[in-house]
Amino acid sequence: MSDIQALFDSLLESTRDAVVFAGADGKVVRVSKAFEVLAGCAATGGAILAGERCMRAAMAPQAAGLWRGMVPGGDGRDRDLEVTVTPIDGGAGGLRLFLGMVRQADSDSPPVSDPAHFGYDALTGLPNRDLFVDRVHQAVLQANRVGGSVALMVMGLDRFTLVNDALGHAAGDRLLVEVARRLRICVRETDTAVRLDGDKFALVMAIASVDDSVIVAEKVLSVIKEPFTLDGEEVVVTFSIGISVLPLDAESDAQLTKHAEHALHYAKISGRNQYQFFSKDMNRRARSRLELENRIRRALVNEEFVVYYQPKVSADSAAIVGAEALVRWLDPERGLISPAEFIPVAEETGQIEPLGAWVLAKTCEQNKAWQAAGLSPIKISVNVSARQFRSRTLIDTVVGVLKSTGLDPQWLELEITESMLMNDVDTAVRKMKALRDLGIGLSIDDFGTGYSSLSYLGRFPITTLKIDRAFIADVDTNPKTAEIARAIIGLSRGLNLEVVAEGAEILAHIRFLRTHGCDTVQGFYYSRPVPADEFEKMIRKGVLEHG
Ligand code: C2E
Ligand code: MG
Ligand code: MG
Repeated sequence: MSDIQALFDSLLESTRDAVVFAGADGKVVRVSKAFEVLAGCAATGGAILAGERCMRAAMAPQAAGLWRGMVPGGDGRDRDLEVTVTPIDGGAGGLRLFLGMVRQADSDSPPVSDPAHFGYDALTGLPNRDLFVDRVHQAVLQANRVGGSVALMVMGLDRFTLVNDALGHAAGDRLLVEVARRLRICVRETDTAVRLDGDKFALVMAIASVDDSVIVAEKVLSVIKEPFTLDGEEVVVTFSIGISVLPLDAESDAQLTKHAEHALHYAKISGRNQYQFFSKDMNRRARSRLELENRIRRALVNEEFVVYYQPKVSADSAAIVGAEALVRWLDPERGLISPAEFIPVAEETGQIEPLGAWVLAKTCEQNKAWQAAGLSPIKISVNVSARQFRSRTLIDTVVGVLKSTGLDPQWLELEITESMLMNDVDTAVRKMKALRDLGIGLSIDDFGTGYSSLSYLGRFPITTLKIDRAFIADVDTNPKTAEIARAIIGLSRGLNLEVVAEGAEILAHIRFLRTHGCDTVQGFYYSRPVPADEFEKMIRKGVLEHG
């Protein structure tokens, strides 16, 4: 070590000035002992990071070498520091260093620059992304030192843009402020709640076991679910949460962050309003979902979808009284794929809109063709997904299809599920009325599995209730299910609705339904869903064999 260097070292040890030396890029070369003490890093380490925070902020063009702001200390406490930077000319060697003089800011003196309170989000007052990076780093250092664990939760508000669109940005901002307030309640003093950006938040916390993070995640989900009141309107939002744990899932802060983001993405594509822990498997599953999305896109172009028809049959006479259109995907590589596999993905990605419109058009076209061929007319129902139902274009699509196919609206019915109607009952009722005004039927599918809010049922302008097959499956053996099925049949009668039982598989189901006055039955007992040409043969015969 040269004499000069030794002298420099002892100077940094002994000076009472808190000083930081950095390169032109703000990267810190050395700090004095006094700075370590000031930044609360003397015992814990992290002085370089704290120094870098000071230097980068003060060396930013708008700060022009003068900055005051909050700096996260190595002990987890923030410090209000004032920094003055002076360039030191390295002379002929060309080495250019910057000297930062740092001191505790006067509590009542105004900020020298950057009134945005560096490190904090101006809207919610939570630490922002800059501070987040430090907090994660500190937490990781600390965990590594004591052999502990850190959980990182990255959280996104589900459908925040809907709130912004419906109530305006000012209301959206107020929602974010309130969300931040609720988040603070969920964490201990030693944890950090952060607003990353937009509707994205994070929690950084030291944990004793993974269970701790489960408890916090559940608490967060439940406090966020409570309605918010904005401009006199109640708004319900939910969170999707991705969790990654060090050292379980990650070795470094960068990896910890990346994996929590992956887990968040996974929570979103898995249906939102939930937390997901990172798992190695997740990458694989996310990738295969992406592949599926691309294949659906191709399948739409290549017309690989087909509509199958399942008859609805009179329980008394076994005559075909209608049908349900059920889409299938005839993949050239994988064969016939069930809608249960691709509808949820199409729903998530928005591909359901063109796909649903195609099924609707295909079904009406086919039904009209059967009528034109002289077969006795039947009503065919088409499933409508939540997204299709919400879409502004649904009514126009239905009107367009009826017009282009020339099908009399009385032979079309749409099947919707209860859960689509409960979010915004007034809008749903308005939309249903508009559909009914076109002259088509409306049926509630899978009745009994959703909210089953009987009080609303009277308000919905529907024509049919479909009892979910879960109630039919053991209607002959389980007295409780039988009682529910009976009650639904009675209810439909009382409300003057047609009632259809789904999933009747055996004669005992049919007998029960017949005895209790359920007129229409759909199920494997009579027929599985079949391609159009097979179904045509069935309607030509008109009556199905029992069994
Ligand atoms: P869903 O609308 O409740 O349709 C009834 C489902 O029950 C069909 O399954 C049908 O094959 C099945 N099923 C009928 N009878 C029986 C039975 O006796 N036993 C059993 N175990 N199952 C029976 P599928 O065709 O696999 O369709 C599943 C779901 O996919 C449908 O449930 C519907 O929610 C959705 N889906 C199908 N096609 C479309 C479509 O074109 N658009 C939309 N949005 N969703 C569709
Ligand atoms: Mg259905
Ligand atoms: Mg159903």
